[in-house]
Amino acid sequence: MKIIKILSVIVPLGLSLGACSQAQNQTSSDSSSTNVFTDSKYTVTMDSSEWNKLTSEEERVIVYKGTEMIWKGEYTDNHEKGTYLCKRCNAPLFESESKFDSGSGWPAFDDFIGESVTEIPDKDGYRVEIVCTNCQGHLGHVFKGERFTSKNTRHCVNSISMQFVKE
Ligand SMILES: [Zn+2]
Repeated sequence: MKIIKILSVIVPLGLSLGACSQAQNQTSSDSSSTNVFTDSKYTVTMDSSEWNKLTSEEERVIVYKGTEMIWKGEYTDNHEKGTYLCKRCNAPLFESESKFDSGSGWPAFDDFIGESVTEIPDKDGYRVEIVCTNCQGHLGHVFKGERFTSKNTRHCVNSISMQFVKE
């Protein structure tokens, strides 16, 4: 743990650590939204011109597929009941019922809402990226077969890619 902490200080922001990390060229996902998701409870912004304005750190993760520091995300240990929305377009992604403690240092969910999450295999062939179906914003990666829960799936998500709405 001490080593990880030291590394966290000296490793530049552009690099990342751990299971969620990924080295990938920057790709913009500013193309027009797919407009496939609607929800009556939340105002989901379908038009890219109406997406929430992102801070530079949010942009680094959501647009340029970065990874937030391990154990630094605000929702890793959040156990409150509620819904996790996409930070950029407000699409509901995960319910608190599907959240579990994976011990990985990032929020983990064994399921997502409807068709709100899309899987995209990484170019390296090892991992599968997950993005918001509506705005294509980067969320994290999905891992299967680890047997954490009965659904046998772990969506490893950056807290910064989400906004939590308490029930
Ligand atoms: Zn989104």
